[in-house]
Amino acid sequence: MTAAHRRIGVMGGTFDPIHHGHLVAASQVCHRFALDYMLFSPTGQPWHKDAMPGASAEDRYLMTVLATSADPRFDVTRVDIERGGPTYTKDTLRDLRAQWTPQGAEHIEWFFVTGADAIATIGSWQDPAAIVELAHLVAVSRPGHTFVEPPLPAGSWSWVEIPALSISSTDIRSRVARGEPIDYLLPNAVAQFITKRGLYQTGQGPGAA
Ligand code: ATP
Ligand code: MG
Repeated sequence: MTAAHRRIGVMGGTFDPIHHGHLVAASQVCHRFALDYMLFSPTGQPWHKDAMPGASAEDRYLMTVLATSADPRFDVTRVDIERGGPTYTKDTLRDLRAQWTPQGAEHIEWFFVTGADAIATIGSWQDPAAIVELAHLVAVSRPGHTFVEPPLPAGSWSWVEIPALSISSTDIRSRVARGEPIDYLLPNAVAQFITKRGLYQTGQGPGAA
């Protein structure tokens, strides 16, 4: 009898807001590694962000749910939000592995997705060696960012070229603050939620008087 085998991806991010760059990356990695699921994990308190106004953890969570709910491969986890404080990838993976315990002889293989910009900063991540013990690291291409090979053992990470979408949450927040359109950069439901909640419109963003 063959033991069941599941392959689960995790995509961490501030998702302030989630956009089509995130969704395309997740979908491409699901296909490339034959993943059963991709779990989106919005961060707790972002520690690396600039002074621009951002959405609350609950609103970032809700936008991530709105953007992913129609895709049967996608789900959203609250582990980082519930833990609170700065999010470290090692903690995300530990908490998820504790939640998703294998049933019987089942084996679960874990993958952690990150963009070329994020992987380039791995030197400043907490305990990268522990991270690759917990999951296979998948770095995806991102326009404007050159891939820098991480200082990690061969076989512990992969590089995946994905369709280039020059979209960032920072740019979306700036556009909202300037009153410029954000249509088609992100799912319509998320754009509507931003309007409904009045997010990113405090007039303190770049370009504001
Ligand atoms: P911000 O501008 O606020 O930093 P962001 O667009 O970079 O937002 P994050 O939530 O910081 O979005 O990113 C989560 C993950 O998604 C990171 O690993 C990041 O590299 C990756 N990512 C974000 N946008 C893209 C994109 N357009 N193409 C590929 N990867 C992306
Ligand atoms: Mg970012």
